Amino acid sequence: MTKPIVAIVGRPNVGKSTIFNRIVGERISIVEDVPGVTRDRIYSPAEWLNHEFNLIDTGGIDIGDEPFLEQIRQQAEIAMDEADVIIFLVNGREGVTAADEQVAKILYRTKKPVVLGVNKIDNPDMQSMIYDFYSLGFGEPFPISGSHGLGLGDLLDEVVRSFPENEEEKIEDDVIRFSLIGRPNVGKSSLTNVFLGEERVIVSDIAGTTRDAIDSDFVHDGQKYKVIDTAGMRKKGKVYESTEKYSVLRALRAIERSDVVLVVLNGEEGIREQDKRIAGYAHDAGRGVIIVVNKWDAVEKDEKTMNRMTEEIRKNFQFLDYAPIVFVSAKTKQRVLAILETVNMVSENHTLRIQSSILNEVIEDAVTRNPAPSDKGRKLRIYYMTQVQVKPPTFVVFVNDPEIMHFSYERFLQNKLREAFGFEGTPIRLITRKRS
Ligand code: GDP
Ligand code: GDP
Repeated sequence: MTKPIVAIVGRPNVGKSTIFNRIVGERISIVEDVPGVTRDRIYSPAEWLNHEFNLIDTGGIDIGDEPFLEQIRQQAEIAMDEADVIIFLVNGREGVTAADEQVAKILYRTKKPVVLGVNKIDNPDMQSMIYDFYSLGFGEPFPISGSHGLGLGDLLDEVVRSFPENEEEKIEDDVIRFSLIGRPNVGKSSLTNVFLGEERVIVSDIAGTTRDAIDSDFVHDGQKYKVIDTAGMRKKGKVYESTEKYSVLRALRAIERSDVVLVVLNGEEGIREQDKRIAGYAHDAGRGVIIVVNKWDAVEKDEKTMNRMTEEIRKNFQFLDYAPIVFVSAKTKQRVLAILETVNMVSENHTLRIQSSILNEVIEDAVTRNPAPSDKGRKLRIYYMTQVQVKPPTFVVFVNDPEIMHFSYERFLQNKLREAFGFEGTPIRLITRKRS
């Protein structure tokens, strides 16, 4: 399922980050909380009335030393490239400013829906201040107050109404969809070209989408694959392309549309902070993950080099302890096609279903050997477990009282599941529910 992307745009100080934090709120995730995943303030999953989406604060993307107007212009461009719906935010107390008009002028070029939010309308007396903003040409302005949390419901209703209809692509079961993500220049395009160069290439626009991504289909050893384009990977050149936060955003959409994500590292340069952030998104999104160390040809090696690099990766990507690591070279093509065998394996694990009877044998055995500790004098009783979902495999464990299920015991059960069924390359999720 692809989540729509919503971006907030507007000149500085109108309240973008305040609104961002309001909408994102204290979102309690069912996703396991893993230390080491650094959250990027500019992007977060969010939801409104059962509609899940990803929210971007473009104000947080800082674009070098560009002058003020150039920064706003580029942030608006990014929103137009990456988002499905744009929230254009202005400051109701200041009226329409020249900078607002600049932003509007850029946004006129987009075919994507733009919802106009007039912020800092902190009380009903101020409602009349919004009329000025009709002149921006984006229809009805929505009065809101970020600091007081007013009006956000109406604004979000409109945002959700504007989501692209049936953006859902027809997903063919027998095709494995994968993407390559990573910092600029790690070799994503080169690797893609090796995959595609070796086989008959069918490049297809995705008809009917607002997205200008280009995916490529190919067949290898009888298996069909789709390489998901990391938006614009093959049409480089915009100024903001090289900024760190933008490459993270660019990865986002590709991750959403993939079954398996190849996190590409530059073997020559080693691991950077940014690599961890990008990989963190793949993990959070519940996709299968393979760590690909590219440019291995350029690394001076002895017999220990590979082990040392593996250790480095395990230390830095603790949350990806399930991900296989492969060492390749796009330049010499060494081991690149072998990645596909790993993709097959990971995809299989990502869609693996375990029969309830077998599952419960494993759980019973685990609980007998290591009973759940009591908490506040109450004893946790585990009744049974069932798998409710694949991609990633998701299990619900029914207990007498979820409150006394301890994080470490959940971890223990997850480890038992991995011991029994492997699940190499895929995250697994465990949800604790009260048996009613
Ligand atoms: P950004 O630069 O667009 O991200 O703006 P910020 O979210 O950092 O907000 C800029 C300033 O406006 C901060 O001092 C906020 O506290 C203030 N602010 C944000 N929303 C509101 C609002 O609804 N009402 C009032 N009065 N102030 C607000
Ligand atoms: P992207 O930005 O991640 O798509 O990276 P590119 O595929 O454009 O590659 C960036 C640079 O690294 C180019 O100059 C490539 O020729 C070079 N490169 C890519 N893969 C390899 C490799 O396996 N070995 C070496 N030595 N260079 C590589």
